[in-house]
Amino acid sequence: MNALVIAEVKNKEVKLSTHATITAALKVSQQVDVLVMGDDVAAATSLIASLAGVRKVLGCTDGKFKHLMGEDVASVVVSIAKAYQFIFAPANVFGKDFMPRVAAKLDVSQVSDVVDIIDQKTFVRPIYAGNAFITVESSDEIKLVTIRTTSFSTELANVAPVTIEQISTPALFAKKEVLSVDEIKNDRPELNTAKVVVSGGRGLGSKENFDGLLIPLADKLKAALGASRAAVDAGYVQNDLQVGQTGKIVAPELYIAIGISGAIQHLAGMKDSKVIVAINKDKDAPIFSIADYGLVGDLNEVIPALTARL
Ligand SMILES: Cc1cc2nc3c(=O)[nH]c(=O)nc-3n(C[C@H](O)[C@H](O)[C@H](O)COP(=O)(O)OP(=O)(O)OC[C@H]3O[C@@H](n4cnc5c(N)ncnc54)[C@H](O)[C@@H]3O)c2cc1C
Repeated sequence: MNALVIAEVKNKEVKLSTHATITAALKVSQQVDVLVMGDDVAAATSLIASLAGVRKVLGCTDGKFKHLMGEDVASVVVSIAKAYQFIFAPANVFGKDFMPRVAAKLDVSQVSDVVDIIDQKTFVRPIYAGNAFITVESSDEIKLVTIRTTSFSTELANVAPVTIEQISTPALFAKKEVLSVDEIKNDRPELNTAKVVVSGGRGLGSKENFDGLLIPLADKLKAALGASRAAVDAGYVQNDLQVGQTGKIVAPELYIAIGISGAIQHLAGMKDSKVIVAINKDKDAPIFSIADYGLVGDLNEVIPALTARL
């Protein structure tokens, strides 16, 4: 069985989502090909060429790919899709941008947000905000699968490098162009891949409190910052920090939820964390039902004391 993985590369850096996607694809095929797109993919292709399980790396370079658009990724994927029985991508913003378009162009059904792979046609995915899991079977000739990256290992051994093949760019989407990208610069670990996440909710009460209490704690723990939707909606933090059903899905070693009640939509984004710590003044807050450690107290007193102690 031939499987293709679409690599996620940003600023020439191979994202760990690529490793997780390769791990998932190796469950249906002994080896996988990996497509890497960008304006300069030399470093990324050679890194991926040394990952265990990779049969061949396909590099596709074009000046227009400095900022990838889903439409263009889809055009490239569709141009080589017929050689594969499986196409895998991460179920994150990157994969969600182009995979539905590929599915439409190939006239197949996408299997989305897969957390487990039973066999070559049977996949498990969460439904109802992660409250139930559905097992689905796909009979499409080309199976298009997006995977939940936190459910698959990012550990891949390094081996002798395999072949890197440059493929030509097909006709691209002409009706849209990226004019500029205004990126939020951040020295913290990325929320998606951080080992420790400190997350704040409405209980913080203000942006000043969020910054003044949570940032020093996150700094001490070298943690990524996260937030509930209520904290984002209240303007305490920007929305790319939102964890949950409509935010990011995270599964760090340690997730500290501060002033977060534990609504089902928030839990959907963090309940697979290895150790969950909850700090809340309401002893009946639902977050305590999934927390490994719970501290009932006023965050205004607890957080400075905890930070000082650390
Ligand atoms: C379709 C849909 C999608 C959604 N997607 C998401 C999502 O992706 N992510 C998400 O988070 N939510 C999401 N929500 C919203 C979700 O339902 C909740 O409204 C939200 O998670 C609540 O955020 P919160 O826990 O910060 O606020 P609250 O529920 O208001 O909880 C605040 C908590 O802070 C505690 N607290 C207050 N003061 C203190 C103090 N001084 N010390 C200690 N504790 C204190 C309170 O006891 C309370 O438990 C979604 C909702 C819908 C309908």
